[in-house]
Amino acid sequence: MSTFNGCIREYPILAIDRFIPNESKQYFILSHVHKGNNFYLFFILNIKLIAIQDHTHGLENLNFNEKVYCTEQTALLLPFMEKRTSKQLMYSHLKELMVPVPYYETIVFEISQQNSIELTFLPANHCPGAALILIKENNGTVLYTGDMRAEAIFVTDKLDYIKKFQIKNLYMDTTCCYAEKRNFISKIASVDLLSQLIQSYSDHHHIYLDCWTVGYEEVWMAVAETFKEKIHVSRQRYTLYCRMNLLFKSILTIDPTSTRFHSCRWDEPCRAHENNMISIHFTPNENTRPIKYIPTKQSKQLLMTDLPYDCKPLEQMVK
Ligand SMILES: [Zn+2]
Ligand SMILES: [Zn+2]
Repeated sequence: MSTFNGCIREYPILAIDRFIPNESKQYFILSHVHKGNNFYLFFILNIKLIAIQDHTHGLENLNFNEKVYCTEQTALLLPFMEKRTSKQLMYSHLKELMVPVPYYETIVFEISQQNSIELTFLPANHCPGAALILIKENNGTVLYTGDMRAEAIFVTDKLDYIKKFQIKNLYMDTTCCYAEKRNFISKIASVDLLSQLIQSYSDHHHIYLDCWTVGYEEVWMAVAETFKEKIHVSRQRYTLYCRMNLLFKSILTIDPTSTRFHSCRWDEPCRAHENNMISIHFTPNENTRPIKYIPTKQSKQLLMTDLPYDCKPLEQMVK
């Protein structure tokens, strides 16, 4: 959970990932978005309660009326993000306020006749549109990481740009800096594990890929390529992704009868497969955990999934 308060000490006129207007803030910057709600409470396997806060705090306020600087993909995604409960658009009031800035392009904020702040978005290897934010001015160069995945191949290939700068202060997200998450595996390794896992079940199983937020696209791509089948998703997800990149037309489908892979809302006719469905919830370590879900009318628990609320885990299939 992010505890960052949105303030960059060196540059108090900037607000990053916190959108509460006040006199000192002149520029509002969003590092990324990957879910429609600001605040979630989850029961996982009925025992664990987790609170997750997003980076969009304040943007849901219909009175928010400031420009929002972000990457091009984030500008496309945000106005179409739905509220998880009601499926209503949460940020459509921001459509005209988004200022898309391409990666590696520098935008200049004039703060006086002599002074300006330069800001550059860099890829973060997180979800589509996610960015590190490099800020330069007389007060020194500062790097805000937002959420990033710093695997070696990415740092070598994509972050060469920052080598030439002397970073005075680093604002780093430490959400996963604890012992349990010490052995993050690479994206390539996790996709390999996933393929092996799916192949361990016979072809008549339907596979539910528990992709509950934006950010699992590489999983879909790998599955579509390996198993030569598309992934069934809701019409809303399909439209959202295809608006961002037409490539998703060859990876996703809204036809539930055309595939055995799903990241859908598990309505009919998909529910007819619940007796031979394996749901895979991804965790950032080697213990990939497929969980089988059953629907129940009584349960109102939220799961880390796009499944309807009235589903709950039946059993943990593999530990
Ligand atoms: Zn994130
Ligand atoms: Zn489906």
